[in-house]
Amino acid sequence: MNAAVEKAGRIVVVGSLNADLTIYCERLPLPGETVHGNGFAVNPGGKSANQAVAASRLGGSVSLVGAVGEDPNGAMLLSSAARAGVDVGHVRAASEPTGVAVIAVDAGGENNIIISAGANGTLSPADVAEASDVLEQAAVVCLCLEVGMETVLAAAKAGHDAGATVLLNLSPYGEVPEELTALTEVLLVNAHEAALFLGDRAVAPGHGAADSEWDRVRLRFAERGIRQVLVTLGSQGSVVLDSAAPESSRVVRIAPTTVKAVDTTGAGDAFTGAVAVRLAAGDALAGAAAYASVAAALATTRKGTQAAYPEAADVQRVLR
Ligand code: ATP
Repeated sequence: MNAAVEKAGRIVVVGSLNADLTIYCERLPLPGETVHGNGFAVNPGGKSANQAVAASRLGGSVSLVGAVGEDPNGAMLLSSAARAGVDVGHVRAASEPTGVAVIAVDAGGENNIIISAGANGTLSPADVAEASDVLEQAAVVCLCLEVGMETVLAAAKAGHDAGATVLLNLSPYGEVPEELTALTEVLLVNAHEAALFLGDRAVAPGHGAADSEWDRVRLRFAERGIRQVLVTLGSQGSVVLDSAAPESSRVVRIAPTTVKAVDTTGAGDAFTGAVAVRLAAGDALAGAAAYASVAAALATTRKGTQAAYPEAADVQRVLR
């Protein structure tokens, strides 16, 4: 752990834990069709659990606020997060089953995913209130849309009131009420989510977009009240749109770290967790994104999601 991370404030991730039930097959079934699979795996997942594990493995001091069922999937998720050093004291036991994502992956890596929220659907503003001890100490509150909007709003408000940076990963995409945009300091989206957020008639940013085009996109976000945005572009890297920065650095392109990717599942969550760690350590947005770009690239070099996330020393070796 480097000195900056050691001194950093707490990261509180409020949201989802899912068991990923993955079946591998030659091709995905058509509606009404049955196909044979050729492998099956159960792994810990859920965007918030992944982000918490990613941040903790990178040296962040992380608390996860969520809910799981009293079943083997819940136990697996708790032990995976705890093993990575995440404080799971605010993950409540629910009478609903643990959330699951049923994932089919074909030979080309294309997938279909169905999520059943289960216990995640029971996470409520009351759970956020119960976690006030950690939220009051938060430097960064990390949110996504895999739990109910009223819970996301309550967590954003608690983070904002505590003076924390509210980092919203707009995934899976959903309508964002103005109250939430007003509480969000940093929005993290992929290109698809950015285009949906800005609306059909907006400039949809693409991999090849010029800086001037990205600057127009930055202005569109600023018009919606979001001054700091990170847009991830998969193997093409990412772009930082910072309306709070001096004019010359309002658009910063982060080149991808070149790696031999074997499994890009959960790269976005690795990126989000790493951004949270560096923001909690006091980095500016572009510096946090540059660090996250390395962490997320390393996460793609190993199979799996949480188990593939790098440690701070792995990232430092690349940055050196
Ligand atoms: P997912 O939902 O699968 O986690 P996402 O759409 O949220 O993905 P991406 O934009 O695909 O997120 O990836 C996040 C970040 O991970 C990218 O901005 C980039 O820094 C890194 N990354 C992803 N794929 C690669 C790759 N093949 N090589 C290098 N870096 C990658």
